[in-house]
Amino acid sequence: MHCIFCDLIAGAAEVSVCYEDATAIAFMDIQPVNNGHVLVATRDHYASLADVPEEVAMHLFGVALKLAPVVRKITGAQGLNIVVNSGAAAGQDVLHYHVHVIPRYRGDGFDIQLPFPGSAVPDRTVLDATAARIIAATRDPVGPRA
Ligand code: 5GP
Ligand code: ZN
Repeated sequence: MHCIFCDLIAGAAEVSVCYEDATAIAFMDIQPVNNGHVLVATRDHYASLADVPEEVAMHLFGVALKLAPVVRKITGAQGLNIVVNSGAAAGQDVLHYHVHVIPRYRGDGFDIQLPFPGSAVPDRTVLDATAARIIAATRDPVGPRA
């Protein structure tokens, strides 16, 4: 399947790279939320978080953490969002794994609104039961990753 990020990484399309190493490449988002919006992508093609080997995912997060204060410094941003959309249902448009580093300003209009307005506050028994299921699944040696 055709992948626009694989094209960029292969040098087949225009891109403004701001960091690269053997595993990761970071470049400017073509339609930034604010100037300085960076995407940290895997050099190899993995569709989403569920497909990325753990050490590669950790490395990408490390690169995002390294770039975050730099982006903040050069843009003068007041805050930052580090965001991963994993899967089309979660709003992932480009199915090549990447981490967004988004500089933010008060009143810039972009919003990842949490808590989600109108969502219910469940009974404590529901929260406890879900926490218990997560604990059990985490202990399962063949449990799912992402
Ligand atoms: P997603 O919704 O997959 O988490 O985010 C995809 C991001 O990729 C969007 O913010 C979008 O602006 C950016 N994007 C889409 N196509 C291109 C492109 O061709 N070049 C660059 N640099 N960014 C792109
Ligand atoms: Zn790709």
